[in-house]
Parts: sequence; structure tokens; C-alpha cells
Amino acid sequence: MRPGLRRLFLRAVSTDNEAQFADGVWETRCLHCRTRLQVAADGEPRGSASLEHVIPRAWFSKRSARPLIERVGGDPDDARNLAVACTRCNHDKGKGPDARGPLDARAREVVEALLATRLARWREPSGPDGGR
Ligand SMILES: [Zn+2]
Repeated sequence: MRPGLRRLFLRAVSTDNEAQFADGVWETRCLHCRTRLQVAADGEPRGSASLEHVIPRAWFSKRSARPLIERVGGDPDDARNLAVACTRCNHDKGKGPDARGPLDARAREVVEALLATRLARWREPSGPDGGR
């Protein structure tokens, strides 16, 4: 896996107050369904762990998503916009709300609720390589 992507996984877990680091592995829970997921110390995801962009990257170019985007500093790879999710949950969100776009009220509602969940799990990064 690309080093850049591994770095984003580490950014997500190091700012997630449900993520625990033990025996060289980060363990956290899917942002959607709370299944236990693991990320190795080097940022390599294990099993069905995948990287979730809470506000989809494609929405960052859309004016109607601006109020949401401002909440993560306008950067899709901001730690507040990153989470670990099951491959299946991530895929379903991608095919559903993400694809419908920010003009769709229900899609916006889903992404807003997920962002609220992500921010409620926020933890300030610690250590030299933590967070942003
Ligand atoms: Zn899940």
C-alpha cells in the first residue's frame, strides 16, 4: 500500500478516541457499524479495515457542500474527515449517499450524521507523528 495512504490511516486512528494501541496494532471500531477493525503500527490496514473519507472527496468541488467542508478546514485529508470503516460499509456509502451528491437532502443528512459521530470520537493527537 502507498505510504501516503498508510499515513492517512495513522492520522485517522491517532485522532480517534476509540482507537487503542496495543501489541503493535491499533484497534478501533467501524465508524458505521462498530465492528472491530485493526490497523498495523505502520498504517497497513488489516482484514476488512478501509479508509473512510467522511465527506466524500468528490464533494469538495461542490458549492452545495461548502458548509460541511468548512467544518474540516476545506481539506479532504484533514484528520477530522478521516475514519476507519469496514470495506463493506465504506462501499455502501460510496454507492449510496456519496454518489447521490450534496444536493440530495438525504445524502447530506447521512454525511452530516457521520461527521457528527466522527467529531464526537475526536481525540487530540499526541506524539511527534500524530494527527496532522
Ligand atoms: Zn462497518
